[in-house]
Amino acid sequence: RTVYVNGAYVPEEDAKISVFDRGFLFADGVYEVTSVLGGKLIDFEGHAKRLERSLSELDMPAPCTMDELLEIHRELVRANGIDEGLVYLQVTRGAADRDFAYPVDAAPSLVLFTQSKPGLAANPVAEKGISVISIEDQRWGRRDIKTVQLLYPSMGKMMAKAAGADDAWMVEDGAVTEGTSNNAYIVKGNTIVTRHLGNEILHGITRAAVLRMAQEAQMQVEERSFTLEEAATADEAFVTSASTFVMPVVSLDGAQIGTGKPGPVAARLREIYLEESLAKAI
Ligand code: PLP
Repeated sequence: RTVYVNGAYVPEEDAKISVFDRGFLFADGVYEVTSVLGGKLIDFEGHAKRLERSLSELDMPAPCTMDELLEIHRELVRANGIDEGLVYLQVTRGAADRDFAYPVDAAPSLVLFTQSKPGLAANPVAEKGISVISIEDQRWGRRDIKTVQLLYPSMGKMMAKAAGADDAWMVEDGAVTEGTSNNAYIVKGNTIVTRHLGNEILHGITRAAVLRMAQEAQMQVEERSFTLEEAATADEAFVTSASTFVMPVVSLDGAQIGTGKPGPVAARLREIYLEESLAKAI
């Protein structure tokens, strides 16, 4: 596999990052994951904009322009022959003598790699839906910044696995924040409910697109907190992310949601999302 490291396209075994890199020592870095369908990037612009925001919230310089980033994405997709899959991008503050304070003159590190995922769009899991458990949200308070600090979500995924479930929904002050690596939704009648934006959740790029498409399709959308009790009695539930698009959730803490099968709203949104984003892919 060819990967990109600080200006060079190299075989993955030749890629090198300093042991003093602040991404490694402090998780002082941000990332993006953009999906690839038919060899094209889904919503690159959305991901580039969020990257700029994450960088700016951390006073981190951008390693290059967003046009240059697009070129790197395209070159890696081409070099690795990716038809369906993902491009992972990470920017860290770079290498500097270890100190909590930000270094004044470190050059940011930029790393990108691809993952081939045949069947990403025609994912059989979406036909069955996934199961989630609820766990306490013990992450830091700036979840709107897409940092590489992912240990608690990893622990959450392991808690889910240990409970025989696929994923976990995190709960804070009695309300669901989001999934370990996705935004969470419930459906009540004709209304789609998902948590409002704030520092408590990541502002999903797929979330923004799906809510826009839902409104265009005359579906009702409410951006507000919801509880586990509300989720337990919902007609349907689903999650969204760049790598899973719209994924139905059919059980919560061992109890089925709605019919226990993917619901019509989630199925329809998945269809619309795939169709519209593929049409706009670049
Ligand atoms: N929430 C969290 C915590 C995430 O890690 C992710 C994606 O990685 C999302 C939501 C979904 O965001 P997006 O749709 O931009 O992939």
